[in-house]
Amino acid sequence: MMSRMEQYKLVSREHGKEGSVISISPDVSIGGGKILIIAGPCSIEGYEMLLSLAKIIKVCGCTALRGGAYKPRTSPYDFQGLGSEGLKILYAVSNETNLATVTEVIDPRDVELVVRYTDVVQVGARNMQNYALLKEVGKSCKPILLKRGISSTINEWLMAAEYIMASGNSNVMLCERGIRTFETATRNTLDINAVPILKQKTHLPVLIDPSHGTGHSSIVSSIAKAGVAAGADGLLIEVHENPEKAWSDGEQSLNPISFAKLMQELPPVAQAVGRTI
Ligand code: PEP
Ligand code: MN
Repeated sequence: MMSRMEQYKLVSREHGKEGSVISISPDVSIGGGKILIIAGPCSIEGYEMLLSLAKIIKVCGCTALRGGAYKPRTSPYDFQGLGSEGLKILYAVSNETNLATVTEVIDPRDVELVVRYTDVVQVGARNMQNYALLKEVGKSCKPILLKRGISSTINEWLMAAEYIMASGNSNVMLCERGIRTFETATRNTLDINAVPILKQKTHLPVLIDPSHGTGHSSIVSSIAKAGVAAGADGLLIEVHENPEKAWSDGEQSLNPISFAKLMQELPPVAQAVGRTI
């Protein structure tokens, strides 16, 4: 029986016993046996930069590109993203490379524009309980990548997904990106428990973001592999050609060499848990 705390319906495992497979683009999907790797810079910094990185991740075997055009920064004085210009760059690079795309929307007024330029719309940690935004993305039929709030329980997170589904959009995937704890050695504490717990509670695909989950590029690959071993359906990884020069989140971005190495190491881990990359 569902506890009083668990009021979600559409996201519940009962509602989709098999586990949902979400189609992202004609040849990319998430859920099922194949693990989706989404890689790219924290922020889109320009066309040449994004195209060059997109080609690199594609050669590494990646089928989806991430990149932020609207950035939710802690300081109002930090780079806020290229906005609509960034969306156009992402769209152009996608056309050029045939990679599926993921980008974040932070304002309900921008949803209409963002859905026109990307395959997956990200709702970030800071907006997980922005109910106006959840309802707005729920009106679209584009797949939504819903990140876990920085201090949100799994139940609150599932209720946020329920908002999107109750608004009419059933294409929701969940991304664990670390939560705030007393630990200061890492930027956040990635809650690996969330993966098998979500698998019990919901039919929605689950991703791990080891970049924001750790904040340190030197441990991203270990945690990425842990996510796959725990049963995640996908990974969201920040990669930059020159992390020291990145306009945001350089400390946690893998360089192309480290990313290529990780892509080599993931298949046997996936295979050990009955999956492929
Ligand atoms: C991001 O993906 O770049 C991002 C801002 O993530 P989060 O919302 O998890 O902090
Ligand atoms: Mn980032």
